[in-house]
Amino acid sequence: MSALPVLPMLSVVHQEDDDGAAPALLPVYKQPDVVFVRGEGVELFEASGRAYLDLTSGIGVNALGYGDAGIESAARRAFATGLVHASNLFRTDPARELAEALVARSFAEHVFFCNSGAEANEAAFKFARRWARRAGDDGRHAIIALRGAFHGRLFASLAATDRPEYRAPFTPLAGGIAIHERDTDELERALATGTVAAVIAEPVQGEGGVRVLDPGFLAALRALTSRHGAALIFDEVQCGLGRTGYLFAHERAGVTPDLMTLAKPLAGGLPMGAVLMTKEIASAIRPGDHGSTFGGGPVVSSVARHVLDRVSDPALLKHVREGGEWLGGELRALAERTGRVRAVRGAGFMWGLDVMEPAAAVVARARERGLLLCGAGEYTLRLLPPLVAQRADLARGLARLEEALA
Ligand code: PLP
Repeated sequence: MSALPVLPMLSVVHQEDDDGAAPALLPVYKQPDVVFVRGEGVELFEASGRAYLDLTSGIGVNALGYGDAGIESAARRAFATGLVHASNLFRTDPARELAEALVARSFAEHVFFCNSGAEANEAAFKFARRWARRAGDDGRHAIIALRGAFHGRLFASLAATDRPEYRAPFTPLAGGIAIHERDTDELERALATGTVAAVIAEPVQGEGGVRVLDPGFLAALRALTSRHGAALIFDEVQCGLGRTGYLFAHERAGVTPDLMTLAKPLAGGLPMGAVLMTKEIASAIRPGDHGSTFGGGPVVSSVARHVLDRVSDPALLKHVREGGEWLGGELRALAERTGRVRAVRGAGFMWGLDVMEPAAAVVARARERGLLLCGAGEYTLRLLPPLVAQRADLARGLARLEEALA
């Protein structure tokens, strides 16, 4: 019998742990040799008691930091009802109340709940296509995403994600989805074909290097999509819910989409995604068009209600806007002092630094100094502090970052 070819992945999957055992967790994540056992405020702790200042917020999820008492009590109260899950065959109050609160605070009139950012984007694509075809026009189905975009890792959201290395091993991806330059002439040419159902954009691109899209560009996107009968989707999975110092990042630009996706911080670390949409989009959706077993469950919805109240608080949003301006100034000064940073970009509590070496090397040196950072592309460091981080926390982080860069 001829030997089976050895797949390169097998050697990774069978890598041995320190104790000699093959790791049971599929190694799709490169994880450092640190195990966290608890969190408090803006810090995570190893069993030894060693503390790490977290300027990643679990990649934008832990907006309220660790150990928020309101998250705990909302979850406890929800669990105490015994109704962890009822399915979407039936109505439950927490999902309805959360949807009403999101509608009251946004452009939207209807909300669909799911479990993650990628799922929210895939649902938004379906809703936009359904709406675009409302007059029986099957040719209007294309989805356009932008250079530098990250919308998730499922087949349609990956097709809308501009990361060749994430896409190449998994082709063919979902069809009808293309990436275009962030260029209004190019976008106008594509929209003028009459085949486009929707354009999706992150008002602040996260994974793609922390790029704040110009308000003028977002306004042009709005005008172009409206003129050519396509829907405009804003992916605020990372930049939404207070991260930029506005409840929704598009408020900063004064531009309103037809659909908006949310996830990451929405349920305080429990899995939840949401698609918010106008009445017009919703009018095209029929029962049975989409669904999710867990979407809008009573526990996650109760916790999200608390998170939404907290991140809508004008005092917290002001804290993020002012703290963000200060942080941006400090990062620019640090870039100047160290000569190790090529560019500083960001808004609110969302900042990217282009560095002169692989970002992973700086992330590792920062971790050795008790500071958690993440990357956004090979040469960009990303800072996503919890929205509750105080100036003293940020200053502590900046001092450690400077050491790690030196
Ligand atoms: N959209 C944006 C802007 C994101 O930053 C992410 C995750 O980083 C996603 C979508 C995908 O979210 P999830 O990992 O919850 O599927």
